[in-house]
Amino acid sequence: MRIETLAVHAGHEIDAATGAVATPIHMSTTFERDADGGYPHEFIYGRSANPNRQALEEGLAALEGGEEAAAFGSGLAASSALLQALAPGDHVIAPTDVYHGMTKLLRDVYMRWGLGVSFVDMTRLDEIKRAFTPKTKLVWVETPSNPLLKITDIAAVATLARDASAVFACDNTWAPIAQRPLDLGADFVMHSTTKYLGGHSDVTGGAVIAKSRTNFFERVREIQTTCGAVPSPFDCWLILRGMRSLPWRMRAHAENALKIATWLTDHQRVETVHYPGLASHAGHEIAARQMSVFSGMLSFEVRGGKEAALGVAAKMRLFVRATSLGGVESLIEHRASIKGEDPRTPQGLLRLSVGLEHPDDLIEDLAQALE
Ligand SMILES: *Cc1c(COP(=O)(O)O)cnc(C)c1O
Repeated sequence: MRIETLAVHAGHEIDAATGAVATPIHMSTTFERDADGGYPHEFIYGRSANPNRQALEEGLAALEGGEEAAAFGSGLAASSALLQALAPGDHVIAPTDVYHGMTKLLRDVYMRWGLGVSFVDMTRLDEIKRAFTPKTKLVWVETPSNPLLKITDIAAVATLARDASAVFACDNTWAPIAQRPLDLGADFVMHSTTKYLGGHSDVTGGAVIAKSRTNFFERVREIQTTCGAVPSPFDCWLILRGMRSLPWRMRAHAENALKIATWLTDHQRVETVHYPGLASHAGHEIAARQMSVFSGMLSFEVRGGKEAALGVAAKMRLFVRATSLGGVESLIEHRASIKGEDPRTPQGLLRLSVGLEHPDDLIEDLAQALE
């Protein structure tokens, strides 16, 4: 089946008990045993498994082309499970410009528990190669990166990881559907389902999707149910509901973003535009190879630095000033003034999560704010 069809049908069945077309939400935390002690429906207790989480995991595995998936209560809980599946003394290679919460997770939590971490520029294959040690067990990439939209060559890093027998995981939060890391050699895809998968800015969640049912994945599953950072049945239902329209939404997000990026490029108050769909972008060639569309995230730098950028954000009418991304509504954010943000973020930079409004309305809004 094609991806649009899979998105509509994966994880969905007509409810046998009622004929309901929309999947019922099963809030029950416990499930009846039969008279001889068995579990006729295989469910036992809500933390270990429940029907809505199982349906979501089926849908996630189908959309990413994996064999298994484990859903979590947030993106960072999903990342955390992959790190917890390692052992003290193991070494991780991660990007310098990885999601700031991931930097915090590695530095403030897992390095204290004995993980070694090297942060490298993932656009430089020679630098990645040099970072491997005999103890390297996990290579982590995130592409496009935040907030400069740097592109990592997924297939090339997959080869390096495979040669070193390290597990290779890709945070695909910024480009679901558009990019299929498991087909490019990744062992795991991680998602903050809070973003494009949920798609409506109304649910927090995360997922790990495995190419195949390895021992490493079994360990992640064990951590999911034992550590218990699991999503509620309603959260699972909301994310799966959002995923039904994901392939079409991603196309529209990308189409709008390309129009806006192109328009911004010609604006005299704009110094630089970072969007992998632009031929002028440093990672365009690799992006064109590994992405079917260029997603809905972009950033641009306003001439005049912080004051100028904050002034533009203050004048927006349609774009909402807020963090996060991937929802139907467009958001704008001055990344450098967020608490805990990387000090290397340019002061004049504004990040856009381009939504599903008409692109001309979005461009008119940017035009009046940049006047
Ligand atoms: C938001 C985000 C995360 C963290 O996800 P939460 O659901 O907020 O825990 C991780 N990686 C990327 C790229 C993100 O955008």
